[in-house]
Amino acid sequence: MEFRAFLLKYAEIGIKGRNRYLFEDALVEQIRYALRRCEGEFSVRKEQGRIYADVISASYDYDEVIENLKRVFGLSHICPMVQLEDEGFEKLEEEITAYMDEAYEDKHLTFKVDARRARKNYPKTSMEINCDLGEVLLTAFPEMKVDVHKPDVMLHVEIREHIYVYSIVIPGPGGMPVGTAGKAMLLLSGGIDSPVAGYMIAKRGVQIDAVYFHAPPYTSERAKQKVVDLAKAVSRYAGEIRLHVINFTDIQMYIYDKCPHDELTIIMRRYMMRIAEHLAKESGCTGLITGESIGQVASQTMKSLLVTNEVCTLPVYRPLIAFDKMDIVDIAEKIDTYETSVLPYEDCCTIFVAKHPVTKPNLQIIKKHERHLEERIEELLQKAYDTAEIITVSADR
Ligand code: ATP
Ligand code: MG
Repeated sequence: MEFRAFLLKYAEIGIKGRNRYLFEDALVEQIRYALRRCEGEFSVRKEQGRIYADVISASYDYDEVIENLKRVFGLSHICPMVQLEDEGFEKLEEEITAYMDEAYEDKHLTFKVDARRARKNYPKTSMEINCDLGEVLLTAFPEMKVDVHKPDVMLHVEIREHIYVYSIVIPGPGGMPVGTAGKAMLLLSGGIDSPVAGYMIAKRGVQIDAVYFHAPPYTSERAKQKVVDLAKAVSRYAGEIRLHVINFTDIQMYIYDKCPHDELTIIMRRYMMRIAEHLAKESGCTGLITGESIGQVASQTMKSLLVTNEVCTLPVYRPLIAFDKMDIVDIAEKIDTYETSVLPYEDCCTIFVAKHPVTKPNLQIIKKHERHLEERIEELLQKAYDTAEIITVSADR
């Protein structure tokens, strides 16, 4: 049995009514992006409020296609369809019988036939097709039973130019198509949390840009490559990502020289947020995303978050704020970022970390100590922007 087409269903449409086509067009674009990574050739089309992907090439890899479609936010269900030619009803009866035989090894099941005619010149009505095909199947497979209310198998038969048959329904990821909800700047470290945070916000339709704070020579090329790899993993869901790599060493060293060491992390985080916001505004992002979670480390107590947040004027989205680490790890495993995240390369946050960083920073005191940076900080920030590297990351095949 070969599936030559896929019916792709969407569920949640926040933007119903007049804007619906924008949602559908974005979804079509994301489906194309996903299928471009697959072997074979496909054509994606919108037809009467439904989206179909047809296989054009002679061969393709079914598992690869399903795997990629399962990463398209906005899809609720993926239905592989068998395409038949209309060669008379008797032939259809034969083919439907063969389909059920092959698709369901165990015939102890209940079913219902659900026929639809897009082509009204077909010689039977939908009702007649349902009854006649039902009868044929009951005769061919005496173990099967009809259940019109809650069947195990809903056998869809769509009469169009061709006849499409489907009954397998694979759950999609849900969410909204990327690009329908604007763009946000993800602070992407090499850790477990931030890739998951980016994934979660992208799932709501938000396009992702990213920034990574690199501190050579304290952080290595390998640490940077790890972040690029994580961005790649996220881009399998979120589409192309522009990753800004900021050289953070000079700023970090300057803070280390001028400010109390137990406040280094919190002051450093304020500068990360300031820089991220600057880049966000430059690239048309309307929010920041971090992987912070209350109480995870000293810099993520409620007081620390208050002090960090104080420098931001854009909203900061923290989708993991109430998540336990275990739950974050579960998602990281599901989206295939976990193994990369736990590679043991150093992070810029861990390098100058004080033994006892403040856990209850006082905003006024932090601000006072930041004044020690007045002399050179603007110059260093400018240098960081000037030397930023932008890497455009997209998912490999
Ligand atoms: P993660 O696992 O995401 O690295 P973490 O538990 O290590 O998080 P922190 O180091 O306190 O926590 O960082 C909190 C958040 O700040 C991260 O989730 C990320 O969004 C951002 N962040 C931290 N370090 C960097 C960095 N080097 N570059 C970019 N963003 C960073
Ligand atoms: Mg980290």
